[in-house]
Amino acid sequence: MFLGHFGVGFGAKTLQPRVSLGTLFLAAQLADLVWPTLLLLGVERVRIVPHFTATNAFDFVYYPFTHSLVGELVAGLLLGLAYWLLRRNAGGALLVGLLVPSHWLLDLVVHVPDLPLYPGASPLLGLGMWNHLVATQVIEFALLGLGLWLYMRRTRARNGAGRYGLLVLVVLLALTHVAGLFSPAPASVGALAWGAQVLWLFVPLAYWVDRNREVTGETRPASAPSIS
Ligand SMILES: [Zn+2]
Repeated sequence: MFLGHFGVGFGAKTLQPRVSLGTLFLAAQLADLVWPTLLLLGVERVRIVPHFTATNAFDFVYYPFTHSLVGELVAGLLLGLAYWLLRRNAGGALLVGLLVPSHWLLDLVVHVPDLPLYPGASPLLGLGMWNHLVATQVIEFALLGLGLWLYMRRTRARNGAGRYGLLVLVVLLALTHVAGLFSPAPASVGALAWGAQVLWLFVPLAYWVDRNREVTGETRPASAPSIS
């Protein structure tokens, strides 16, 4: 899953509007952000098998640290804790912590049975929607659309950067998704892993967009009435 995770990040803004969209993206996509680095380090492994599913060419042979349920729960705990230490916002920290394993639940819908529950000799789970190309696209775009709608209801642009930056962000997400769908299988795991690092760009972009938008329904601290 790709767009769906960002959709969840967008939508989560409704629950804790003080948490930046950049942090929400970081949490919801942490597994896929870290995965390419673990591939490059040889810690996790993937096989490129053209037409492995109707949607992509990836046989995820071994990725228990980024993509097991327990791995994502632990990562969520750590990221939530880090957020709390930095911001002292318990509700925000809880949301950040829960968003990390939300990735596993969403992946569960689309992956073929390759998702472990825990590192080691775990059963592998996956409902396999990736074998249904159209259904996969419907759910990806529906999740992005729903999340975006929630985000736009909860925030409004402060300036052009907030308005057009959001547009650029969404267009780039959709283009990245569609490009992945239509491009041939990567030539090597190294090429895949380096290419996948592009995902990191969406995190600072989301921080920037979010900074140029404001939460609706919240009054700014009123300036002291002037006595004249
Ligand atoms: Zn994933």
